[in-house]
Amino acid sequence: MERILALAFVEDGPLPRGAMEALQGAVDLSRSIEGSTLSVGLIGQRVEPAAGSLAGCGAARFLGVEGPEVARPRYASDVAAAEALARRSEATLVMIPNSSRAARIAGGLAQRLGGRVDTHVVGLRVRDGEPRIDRWYYRQRMLATLSRTTRPWVLLLEGGVFEPWRGESGTADVEAVAVAWPSFVTRNLGEEAAGTKAQTIRPDADLLFVAGAGWTKKQADGQSHIAEAEERILGFLEASGASLGSSKSLVDLSSEGQDILAFMTHLNQVGQTGSSPRHPKGLATCCHGEEPHVVGWRFIKERRAVNLDPNCGWARGKADVLYVADAFEVMAKVNDLLS
Ligand SMILES: Cc1cc2nc3c(=O)[nH]c(=O)nc-3n(C[C@H](O)[C@H](O)[C@H](O)COP(=O)(O)OP(=O)(O)OC[C@H]3O[C@@H](n4cnc5c(N)ncnc54)[C@H](O)[C@@H]3O)c2cc1C
Repeated sequence: MERILALAFVEDGPLPRGAMEALQGAVDLSRSIEGSTLSVGLIGQRVEPAAGSLAGCGAARFLGVEGPEVARPRYASDVAAAEALARRSEATLVMIPNSSRAARIAGGLAQRLGGRVDTHVVGLRVRDGEPRIDRWYYRQRMLATLSRTTRPWVLLLEGGVFEPWRGESGTADVEAVAVAWPSFVTRNLGEEAAGTKAQTIRPDADLLFVAGAGWTKKQADGQSHIAEAEERILGFLEASGASLGSSKSLVDLSSEGQDILAFMTHLNQVGQTGSSPRHPKGLATCCHGEEPHVVGWRFIKERRAVNLDPNCGWARGKADVLYVADAFEVMAKVNDLLS
C-alpha cells in the first residue's frame, strides 16, 4: 500500500503539461497498487483554480501551500512548502514533474523527510504490488529498473513518459497547510525574459529543428554565408516556435576558431554525446545524418531532412522524407510562407 502525493508548482496560468503527465502517472499507480491513496499537493501564490482543474482526478485530498512566499521559485520556501505537504499527507511516494524549480528541491526534500530521491524517472510500473521505476544510465546506454524499500521515496519524473491527465474540472476542497517559514536571505526582485537568440531550446515544442555544419560550409559560389544562415535559422525558430538542435560538428566549430552561428552552444547538441530530445517531429538541415548524431533522434517519430547530398545518412532509412535541395533556398521559402 502506498500513500501517493502528486506535487506540482502553480505559476501563472494553467498547470503545465508536465504536471498533468505526472498526475496521470500518479493516478495509474494508485489504481495499480491495492489500498493506495492519492493526494494532490499544490504550491503557489493561489492554488484553488489549479486544484479545480484537477477536481475529477480521484484524489482523496487536495492540499495547498499558498501565499507570496511561494509565488516565485526559491529553494528555502519551495522545499519548506513541499516538506509540509509531504508530512501532512504522510506520503510514502512523492511524485514531482521535472523542472528546474522541482529539480532544485528534490534532493533536499528527500533529506528532510529522511527518505530517498530518484531523478530522471522515465518509466513507472508495479511488480508484486511494489512500484518500480526506470532510469537511464551512462548517457542512455543502459536502462535500469529500480525498486526501493526506503520511504518516503521522492520521484522526479521526466516529460513524455505519461499521457497528460485529462478529466473533469470542478471545485476541489483545498486543505490549506501552514508552513513555519524560515528567515529568507534570497528575495525575488523580478524576472527578465531571455531574448529569442538565447532561448533556442524549447523542450515542449512540437518540432526539433536541427542545424548541421553545412550551414557554415562554403556554398556553390565558393563562399560561406554565416549571416544568411543565422537569419534563416532564427527566422524559422521565431515563426514556428521550434526548438533548435545541432550536430556535434557545428557546435565544435567555435573551439576550432571557425566562423560560427553565435546562438549555438553545446547545449543544443543532439546525439550520442549530446541530448535525446522528445519532440514528436524533427527537421534536419545541412546535417549529414551520421549514426552518432541520429541516435539522439530515437524518440522522434516523424523525421524529415534537407540535404544537397542524395546519399547522405538521412537517405539511408533514417528519415521519412529527404528533400534533396539547398537548405538556404528551402528555408527562405518556408520562412516566407510562415510570415
Ligand atoms: C564518439 C563520437 C560521438 C559523437 N557524438 C555525436 C553527437 O552526439 N552528435 C552529433 O551530431 N555528432 C556526433 N558525432 C559526430 C558525427 O559522427 C558526425 O561527424 C557529425 O554529426 C557531423 O555533423 P554534420 O552532419 O553537421 O556535418 P557534416 O558531416 O560536415 O555534414 C554537413 C552536411 O551539410 C550538407 N550541406 C552543405 N550545404 C548544404 C546546403 N546548402 N543545403 C543542404 N545541405 C547542405 C552536406 O551535404 C553535408 O551532408 C560523434 C562522433 C564520435 C566519433
